[in-house]
Amino acid sequence: MSADSKKAHNFIESLIKDEISSGKHTGKVVTRFPPEPNGYLHVGHAKSICLNFGIADTFGGECNLRFDDTNPEKESQEYIDAIRQDVQWLGYEWAGEVRYASDYFDAIYGYAVELIEKGKAYVCSLTAEQMAEYRGNLKEPGRNSPDRDRPVEENLKLFQDMRDGKYQNGELVLRAKIDMASPNMNLRDPILYRIRYAEHHQTGDKWCIYPMYDFTHPISDAMEGITHSLCTLEFEDHRPLYDWVLDNITPPARPHQTEFARLNLNYTITSKRKLKRLVDEGFVDGWNDPRMPTISGMRHRGYTPKSIRTFCDMIGVNKAGGTVDVGMLEFAIREDLNTRAPRAMCVMRPLKVTLTNYPEGQSETLTLPVHPQNEEMGTREVPWTRTLYIDRDDFVEEPPRKWKRLAPDQAVRLRGGYVMTCREVVRDGDGNIVELKCEYDPKTLGVNPEGYKPNGVIHWVSESDSVEADINLYDRLFNHESPDSDKDGDFVDHLNPESLTRLTGARVEKSLAQPRTDLPYQFEREGYFFFDESASDAGKLVFNRTVTLRDSWAGAQNKS
Ligand code: ATP
Ligand code: MG
Repeated sequence: MSADSKKAHNFIESLIKDEISSGKHTGKVVTRFPPEPNGYLHVGHAKSICLNFGIADTFGGECNLRFDDTNPEKESQEYIDAIRQDVQWLGYEWAGEVRYASDYFDAIYGYAVELIEKGKAYVCSLTAEQMAEYRGNLKEPGRNSPDRDRPVEENLKLFQDMRDGKYQNGELVLRAKIDMASPNMNLRDPILYRIRYAEHHQTGDKWCIYPMYDFTHPISDAMEGITHSLCTLEFEDHRPLYDWVLDNITPPARPHQTEFARLNLNYTITSKRKLKRLVDEGFVDGWNDPRMPTISGMRHRGYTPKSIRTFCDMIGVNKAGGTVDVGMLEFAIREDLNTRAPRAMCVMRPLKVTLTNYPEGQSETLTLPVHPQNEEMGTREVPWTRTLYIDRDDFVEEPPRKWKRLAPDQAVRLRGGYVMTCREVVRDGDGNIVELKCEYDPKTLGVNPEGYKPNGVIHWVSESDSVEADINLYDRLFNHESPDSDKDGDFVDHLNPESLTRLTGARVEKSLAQPRTDLPYQFEREGYFFFDESASDAGKLVFNRTVTLRDSWAGAQNKS
């Protein structure tokens, strides 16, 4: 795809086009996606992934995957593996090997020494409390550390001693010497290195000092020849520090940072820390619980990579923050599945129907399309027998006006089959309806009945030729538009108690005995459902509801 063949997708793309046409940027465009492996990726990360890989693709460049791994205590191999899988599943390929900021620890250490030698960094012995006090605040300038003018030789020796393990956690730090009166707090002699006796998932116990994010990131970008370092708006105030680092060392390349707005979705939490809490405290069944806004949770629920990429395209990329309606994400998956999902019938709450005029032991095979608008998807066989199941909700004894389903002495068509009329309601000893006795009209396969009109069309399965299934009806995890907005409250108070309804004993047509694992099905009249391979076993199929056919929340929102 050539960059000038069509309109820019977003402001970053236009910016790069301008840089190229004015000659400010020459050569390849190189971006990176830099997750910290301290949790699983969520839908917010998808925005950043689509942007970084998308920009590289648009300009025929490259995008790296780099783990920003400077906090060993919070990180793990499990997260690294999950993140790699998620990026690939979304359909993106990073350039070359996976990279780690920890690959550059030696180089970063070298640049720290360079800063010390230039008199631009010093070892400071203030305690954390003292440092906070010396730092001042937005109204008052900070004060210089008493160690600020420590001679270069002494700084070099102390920094080496920090590395050699001669000091304890928190005893000393290395700081940049910038400006304690700067209105930008990030420039008030920020910490570059701290002591941390922690085993690192990549470097083991090689280091007991670790560089801070703000020092690591620009250097890692430069080491990889990143040209455009795209990050979210909260780093805007860090950009002067990003530039200071690169302007005060001799980097192998000179990347530049550009910020864009984070994705905020209503009814959703997009913070790894908070999502981790939901997992750790058992509010959900793990990071890939289908209710989680994680990429792995969405995958488990039946979201397709295409739908997530379409969603990211729809929301665009801009400078101003804002909140996106989660309904847009649901719209994107419905759009994708509507055109591609195979159709099938599933009776969620089975009610037995006996066709009194259909001979016992007889059956016939109906042939139904897999997709009504796409012949290429082929057909499926659905057996018609004397005993069937329909959904309990599709029958009432006293129908309201305009009832479009079954009622006593009324007729409905069974999807793809015949028209039948209800003649008798059978009850158990407690008065519960346990069966309907109906008559089918043998002249109605594919044609309208003569002399009467059926009420509507309902779905069904044959008793003997259907398979039992459990159904997980998932709904939004939170019932509050911005679950983490109230300062004194706790976001877990807004968990939706009805986010999961489990139905057992549902029945699916027998063409689903070995369900597809690549795409959800549309269960006619019910919604989209994805086979849950990990929860199913030989005796029982489990399906997860990806999304309903229509947005059932839109009306509710308008009412309030
Ligand atoms: P979290 O608060 O969930 O931990 P983070 O920003 O700390 O998010 P990182 O692993 O550091 O998570 O993020 C990797 C990249 O993804 C960063 O460039 C970050 O800016 C971007 N990113 C994270 N959350 C969002 C979001 N909600 N919208 C867009 N980009 C995001
Ligand atoms: Mg982060």
